[in-house]
Amino acid sequence: MKAVRVTGLAAEGAESAPGAKRLELCDVARPERRTPSDVLVRVLCVGLDGTDREIVTEKYGVPPAGETALTIGHESLGVVVEAATDSFLKPGDAVCALVRRPCSDPDCTACRNGQQDFCESGNYVERGIKGANGYLSEYYVEDARFLVKVPVSAMAYGVLAEPQSIVEKVWDEVQRIQQRLVWQPQTAVVLGSGPLGLLAAFTCRCLGLETIVWSKSPQDSAGAALVRDCGVVYKEAESNSGSESASLNDYLRQAGKRADLIFECTGYSPLAFEAMTALGPNGVLALLGVTPGNRSIQLPADRVNQGLVLENKCVLGSVNASRKDFETGLFRLQQIEAKFPGLLRRLVTDRLKLEDVSGLDFSRIGIKAVIDLVPQEQWTELVNQAGGEAVYSFSV
Ligand SMILES: [Zn+2]
Repeated sequence: MKAVRVTGLAAEGAESAPGAKRLELCDVARPERRTPSDVLVRVLCVGLDGTDREIVTEKYGVPPAGETALTIGHESLGVVVEAATDSFLKPGDAVCALVRRPCSDPDCTACRNGQQDFCESGNYVERGIKGANGYLSEYYVEDARFLVKVPVSAMAYGVLAEPQSIVEKVWDEVQRIQQRLVWQPQTAVVLGSGPLGLLAAFTCRCLGLETIVWSKSPQDSAGAALVRDCGVVYKEAESNSGSESASLNDYLRQAGKRADLIFECTGYSPLAFEAMTALGPNGVLALLGVTPGNRSIQLPADRVNQGLVLENKCVLGSVNASRKDFETGLFRLQQIEAKFPGLLRRLVTDRLKLEDVSGLDFSRIGIKAVIDLVPQEQWTELVNQAGGEAVYSFSV
């Protein structure tokens, strides 16, 4: 079968030789089920994000043990081909797959309790990222407990379940943290207008929050148009960020807005620290952007610390997501589609074929690229249309 692999990777802990890494379309053996709980899935499409770009272009990505190549792709939508007869999954069911697998450290309380998104040892495995092959191949095999059923009605945007799960995990955490007081948030600020920032903004609108997106992308960018169409205020951050008038703090003050909730989705660390002072009383700053690099900055430490203490502010980092967050994510995507029809479709600006990936220039992707392994018009033949709605166990 075909798989898109980054070749020339060094084993874990070592650094790849400069220029050795290549993104290639390879022929690999089709995986087979080995245990009763294994499920064979045919991949319909895979979404690409900043992590995939970093695996291809930066010092990121760890191949499976003993290998020097990694199949990329961690945002997937597929259809079950083979499963045990007593499995909750049946051939023809549409599924997406979780990314992280637990570490084997007996002292990792999180992983031992099925909360590998909170892994303490750092020895977790992530499919398509760290120590295990991803989903950008024609088929994959995965244990049923790491697969989530996608409702037939959500197929068109089901590939967004993984990035949406990141938003749901942190929103769930925020809700539980804010039980510390009677909290009635009015205004949310999203920093960044990449796919994650846009999904966070759509989510805030579904939650009925007045939402502001602050991003360096121009006012006429595709992302700006998308958020405006769901009632978000889009503010282009001025490029001379050194000047006082260009700061997030000043913008919010001049606009008379109190940020009850801030989602930091840029990974630009100076902005994360500025957001600590821009955050309103009793607010939560959720940090979701992963920062590559090694930047140091000077900051008004006394003012930051004083503000956090005297105004009961909370700063929260969050990564990865659980099964429940995927399920909530699929619910939310349906809610977004119902409330703002077509928005999720417009988020995917680039639809590519498998053959297009090896020559892909990540810098030319509009907002989000999705690779179709099966043409969309053929999906209905493969997916059991009578599968009905998926039943989840969560509350939103
Ligand atoms: Zn762990």
